[in-house]
Amino acid sequence: MMVREPLFDGHGRRISDLRVSVTDRCNFRCQYCMPADGLPWLDREEILRFEEIERVVRLLAEMGVTDLRLTGGEPLVRREFPRLVAMLAAIPGIEDLSLTTNAYLLERDADALVEAGITRVNVSIDSLQRDRFFQLTRRDSLPRVLRGLEAIARHPEVRPIKVNAVALRGFTEEEALPFAEFARSTSYQVRFIEFMPLDGDRAWSRDQVLTGREIREIIDRVHPLEERPREPHATARVFRFKDGRGEIGFINPVSEPFCADCNRIRLTADGKLRTCLFSLHETDLRTPLRAGASDEELETILRNAVWRKELKHHVGERGFRQPPRSMSAIGG
Ligand code: SAM
Ligand code: SF4
Repeated sequence: MMVREPLFDGHGRRISDLRVSVTDRCNFRCQYCMPADGLPWLDREEILRFEEIERVVRLLAEMGVTDLRLTGGEPLVRREFPRLVAMLAAIPGIEDLSLTTNAYLLERDADALVEAGITRVNVSIDSLQRDRFFQLTRRDSLPRVLRGLEAIARHPEVRPIKVNAVALRGFTEEEALPFAEFARSTSYQVRFIEFMPLDGDRAWSRDQVLTGREIREIIDRVHPLEERPREPHATARVFRFKDGRGEIGFINPVSEPFCADCNRIRLTADGKLRTCLFSLHETDLRTPLRAGASDEELETILRNAVWRKELKHHVGERGFRQPPRSMSAIGG
């Protein structure tokens, strides 16, 4: 494998984690992500081809990116997605190849994805009650999603399997204890994510954020928790149940930002490099890719973009501006 200089931003953070959005399309319409009518989809030719994604990932792997997560939109709606997974799994230097999915199509694809080389899967589930799941995702699909989760769990080589729930005030308080029971009675790692201002409806407000701390207090009153040491670059604070039955995590980007050791960059489905979820600026890679840029030219573009990675986000501060793209178009 060709080895290039490691990739650093201008604040001294070494970049080793890449999230690639493989499509902006989705079969769900989660309230906190997409408008009920969806969004205008990208045209086919605007979307990076598999070979283009592979080239960018290979270059970044040569610069020290080891962790790759595939997301969207809903990654499993991209045609021949397992074939892309296999192409990326074959890139030297990629040590961890994970997937974030709503699991609607996971029962269909689980075997093919494991065969292709997926090593970890996160499934998004915001409620364990069918009607409330329907309310939030605007799809009556909880049973099918749970079948998808079970289908991937049948593969012991895919671990850990995480279940992520977005926490919304006025909704998730009721989910806290059922999810705690779920975490205690299964091998899934459950994590709550604070609602961020990346919704397609642009209706976010700070008072709709149910903080990780509040959920933790609800759970701790019934099942006492104790914090585990934080791993480097981890986005979640993880707590174990004191009686030893499982653990539960909290991703608190709004109430406790973890920008200081952020090692992450993102590639959108249309080939833009984003250095922060909340970036107002992005770097076009698709044009140089299609204009025949050399690896060295692309490397320079990547390094210059990464050098300008934002020090931190400003969610909740005065003057914060929500980026033009919402979560499904960025790749969460
Ligand atoms: N469709 C896949 C899924 O839902 O897992 C992958 C893409 S989705 C954009 C990735 C993650 O972002 C999901 O866990 C979703 O719940 C989360 N998400 C979406 N909008 C969010 C928001 N406004 N705040 C916090 N998390 C959000
Ligand atoms: Fe689709 Fe995931 Fe956004 Fe829900 S969170 S609308 S499943 S992209």
